[in-house]
Amino acid sequence: MAVPLFDASTPLAPLRGELRAAIDRVVDSGRFILGPEVAAFEEELAAWCGAGHAVGVANGTEALTIALRALGAGPGDEVVVPSFSFYASAEAVPPTGARPVFCDVDPETFVVTPETVRAAVTPRTKAIVAVHLFGNVAPVRAIEAATGLPVVEDAAQAAGSTGPDGRPGGLGALGTFSFYPSKNLGAFGDGGAITTSDAALAERVRTLRFHGSRDKVSYQEVGYNSRLDELQAAILRVQLPHLEAWAGARRAAAAAYDALLPEWAGRPVPTAGASPAWHLYVIRVRAPDALGAALAGRGIEARGYYRAPIHAQPAMAAWAPADGLPGTARAAAEHLAIPISAAITREQVAEVAGAIADARLG
Ligand SMILES: *Cc1c(COP(=O)(O)O)cnc(C)c1O
Repeated sequence: MAVPLFDASTPLAPLRGELRAAIDRVVDSGRFILGPEVAAFEEELAAWCGAGHAVGVANGTEALTIALRALGAGPGDEVVVPSFSFYASAEAVPPTGARPVFCDVDPETFVVTPETVRAAVTPRTKAIVAVHLFGNVAPVRAIEAATGLPVVEDAAQAAGSTGPDGRPGGLGALGTFSFYPSKNLGAFGDGGAITTSDAALAERVRTLRFHGSRDKVSYQEVGYNSRLDELQAAILRVQLPHLEAWAGARRAAAAAYDALLPEWAGRPVPTAGASPAWHLYVIRVRAPDALGAALAGRGIEARGYYRAPIHAQPAMAAWAPADGLPGTARAAAEHLAIPISAAITREQVAEVAGAIADARLG
């Protein structure tokens, strides 16, 4: 039985009529940029996250850059960011003028901790990017308490997750989302959003996304053309009411993997009190690429996402830390994402778990 790594289209099949109607509504309205669909989606997303405000932007990468700019990050500042993440988590920092300072992660949860962040903080640190990697929930409140610094949550992989203090996007000074099609909440193209409960930060983000202007007459600062468009917002509004059920399906699949996988496969470990809507179900094994090749032989997709962590990427050489990041090195070497989606069946999970057990490559 072939099992794809993810499946973004099957969960949308029952929504086809509603999606078509939403697209027609936008086409009929003749409004395509910053109209009623974006405004309504912003309200609905903010309510979902438990944040006061949400602002739609063009993608998850610019969401991070704009959130950091809103906090005042600029030349001479440092932004702490984990090296074990998607490249964009750190790539978003230099365009602000600040420099990324890489911190470690806990190799069992794959996310930052107050200790790993504190080790990277200096008097120049302006903000911290805490990535809710794979859908696990980083301890944002504990990090803010330990450092006294604002946290930007990179929640690109965490739509649908919950933590002990609430949902990602409602935990830090600001939260950022990506609606790239394969994410837990995906548009039909690129899209992103920034959440915050601070009205002044929300206003600043709104200004920055539209060329640094409040009134389209006077331009206060150099901003961005970074907007979520009406079509994408209308499509996302159809999906948002289903996010909780999709998250439940991901949790159920993860629980089935937890029960069925052989003992030698390290399960993803939720952080204290978290109930992740696993965007990726990532196991830890000693020979992940050999295991991935064995699974491929049986038609099962699996892959290592961040085998070379961000600080080892050529573009980040100038900011690579002098000391190693042992948790990052371990996570990078051992992780393997195996199939998960809101549509994965029990039979598929059993097939994958059985194939892993047969491979005996722990
Ligand atoms: C996808 C992703 C981003 C970037 O989002 P885009 O919308 O593709 O720009 C940033 N951070 C993480 C952790 C991601 O997974």
